[in-house]
Amino acid sequence: MQLHAHTADEVREAARERLPSGAGAAQRVYADALRRGRFDPLALGLSAASASAWRTHFAFALPEVARVVDEDGPLGPTSKAVLRLADGLECEAVRIPMGRDRFTLCVSSQVGCKMGCTFCETAKLGLLRHLDAGEIVGQLLVARDRLGWAIRNVVFMGMGEALDNATNVIQALRVLNDPAGIALAQERITVCTAGHVRGIRRLSAAGFKRLNLSVSLNAANDPLRSQLMPVNRVTPLDELQATLAAYRPRRNFAFGVNYCLMPGLNDRRSDASAVAAFCAPLERVLVNVIPYNPGTEPLTRAPTDAEVDTFIGWLRDEGLPVRRRITKGRSVMAACGQLGNRALREQVRRRRSR
Ligand code: SF4
Repeated sequence: MQLHAHTADEVREAARERLPSGAGAAQRVYADALRRGRFDPLALGLSAASASAWRTHFAFALPEVARVVDEDGPLGPTSKAVLRLADGLECEAVRIPMGRDRFTLCVSSQVGCKMGCTFCETAKLGLLRHLDAGEIVGQLLVARDRLGWAIRNVVFMGMGEALDNATNVIQALRVLNDPAGIALAQERITVCTAGHVRGIRRLSAAGFKRLNLSVSLNAANDPLRSQLMPVNRVTPLDELQATLAAYRPRRNFAFGVNYCLMPGLNDRRSDASAVAAFCAPLERVLVNVIPYNPGTEPLTRAPTDAEVDTFIGWLRDEGLPVRRRITKGRSVMAACGQLGNRALREQVRRRRSR
């Protein structure tokens, strides 16, 4: 049983069932692993027999760091860590500078993704598999304890559609938030979805009152959104809108609405009006405009600063609060929509041809 795939209560319960002695140390063993990145029961003063029993029944195996690439930017370096999982597949976690020495870690929830968004590198891999809760939490532990990264916030915006893997993501959220372990406040965590309505309902039922949720909108009319994001063919905008409107974990909750601006595709005045119409029933929103990052097979070019400013101006004219996301990590393929490295694609191709 991997310690970091479980909450302290779950580990305590399992220790009671499995260990002939030393179960009373569960709280300390758990805190030591999740807070200090160390699984060494002997160092906590347990007897050799108890420590050995802990090691027999519990483990704390984190992904290996395969490589790290950095790109300097005005707010500090953006760093992409490629992490090797136990089965040899890789996932990616990206440290994003937010200014004032604060960093957000963008974590992956799957290896690859089946959602097929046309602007996204990860989509080219298809879905290889879900990450389990320990592999998701492990990304933060590796970042913090192996790479020495000070992380303030976590966003589920790496490889994969987080809510297509709702069981493991919800368990990872419980572990991240557990006060007996990592104790990351829900306010510091954002789950991002392409519009997986069943997953949104499951997340709602899980009862995280203070968690942030953002949706990648990218187009607010059905024909264009279906072209860019195949999920829209299954769940058109009115169904997505109704699902989001019903998601209200607290009174002052505000949705993040992410809009990747792609010149010539979704950057007309009428697109801005459609975004406003989509957001109207959601009460509070914050629209994040993300300049498109051309990948290996670009749909279009990156927008100019002037084009981004114009579109943001139209959204503000519509009465929407808007934030411009500064592009970070483009040259190391760590920017939004660019995760899914070439080596991994080659690995996938080889596996599929076997
Ligand atoms: S944008 Fe997100 S949901 Fe869409 S294919 Fe890429 S990883 Fe999957």
